[in-house]
Amino acid sequence: MDGANGNALRSRSLLTRLDITDDRPAHLSMHDVAPETLDHVRVFLERLKEVGTGPCMLLVIPGKTWSPADVDQLRRWQGEGHLLAGHGWLHRISRYGGWFHRLHSLSLSRNVAEHLSLNAAGIQELILRCAEWFPAHGFEIPDHYVPPAWAMGAVSKEQLQQLPFRTYEYFHGVYDSERNQVVRCPLMGFEADTWLRATCCRMFNSFNMTFKPGAGPLRISLHPHDLQLRLRNDLITVCQRVSCTPVLTLG
Ligand SMILES: [Zn+2]
Repeated sequence: MDGANGNALRSRSLLTRLDITDDRPAHLSMHDVAPETLDHVRVFLERLKEVGTGPCMLLVIPGKTWSPADVDQLRRWQGEGHLLAGHGWLHRISRYGGWFHRLHSLSLSRNVAEHLSLNAAGIQELILRCAEWFPAHGFEIPDHYVPPAWAMGAVSKEQLQQLPFRTYEYFHGVYDSERNQVVRCPLMGFEADTWLRATCCRMFNSFNMTFKPGAGPLRISLHPHDLQLRLRNDLITVCQRVSCTPVLTLG
């Protein structure tokens, strides 16, 4: 079996297993948008356009060193219909917050889950700093916030209600702070650089597809390097089969 045929067959079997139907609504997001990933993001967004999908919600890491040209790029993408959202502050931990954080880091988040190093007040301060970066650079405060690795940490829903974003993403769903309601939203990811990670990713994606009516929109989360990784064909096929939007509609 040659590589292309093998990839096509694998993509078909993934879709069969995941029971994805045409026009299923899906929220499309690009994680980790930062000065050092802009070139990869640019290529990725072009590729999505070529295959007839997008635009995306772009999850911005504000605490990086953004040049005026980098900020202009975000503005141009906004002009093309992409939406901005907040994504942590530095996307990097400075220390471990305890045994749970070490376990989370080893199994899932590597060293990016910065909320887990902080107490509730520290997390509130980080989210507020993230929100304030946008108006300081000529943007409106986005509606949506995603903690790195979806690890929200010790902050409560009541504390999130006091912060400027409206919706907050968790691993299992999205919290709407205006309605004080969590909507379960299945999640798909494709960040897999090894055979083991690719297998785990596919099992995780399949598991998430067991959420049926009553759940919110499918969340398709992309990372800037996914097109160089093992599930690149899966992600393009999935994006083409569902009805992708950058807007997160919780119903
Ligand atoms: Zn991230």
